[in-house]
Amino acid sequence: MVTKICVCCCEPFVARPQVPKQAFCANPACQRERRQQWQRKKMLDDPFYRENQQDAQRAWRTRNPDYSRDYRAANPEYTQKNRKQQRSRSQDGQALEKQTSDVSIPPNEIPPGIYRIRHIQVDANCKTDAWIVEITPVNADSFCKTDACKDRT
Ligand SMILES: [Zn+2]
Repeated sequence: MVTKICVCCCEPFVARPQVPKQAFCANPACQRERRQQWQRKKMLDDPFYRENQQDAQRAWRTRNPDYSRDYRAANPEYTQKNRKQQRSRSQDGQALEKQTSDVSIPPNEIPPGIYRIRHIQVDANCKTDAWIVEITPVNADSFCKTDACKDRT
């Protein structure tokens, strides 16, 4: 019996011996998250899977042409919530764009040189697949005197 910590809810769970790499507990919400992560990755990595999913969705919409319209008519709060979210998403996007454009450098303007890339640990609750990194220019003459080489001098 191996006890692990779930990467989704951070609670301890007993891993199934049949699944050596099990990272999510059996909690339905965590299993949903695991499937969504798998599908997001598959959609990015596998063009055949992506095409297949799109075909299936298209075929389903053709078979059920009234579904979306009927659902929206029966659930007006859903439409309202969606509109609100869409508005706030585009506002967030604008804010983010402003924020990042202040610090970003177009790739063709980054001077050639030696850089240190440091992985920044984000909060465990922050569910992102992206690696947040800090890129700092390193002086070629001095970089060996820092960090790892320090102990040997
Ligand atoms: Zn969990």
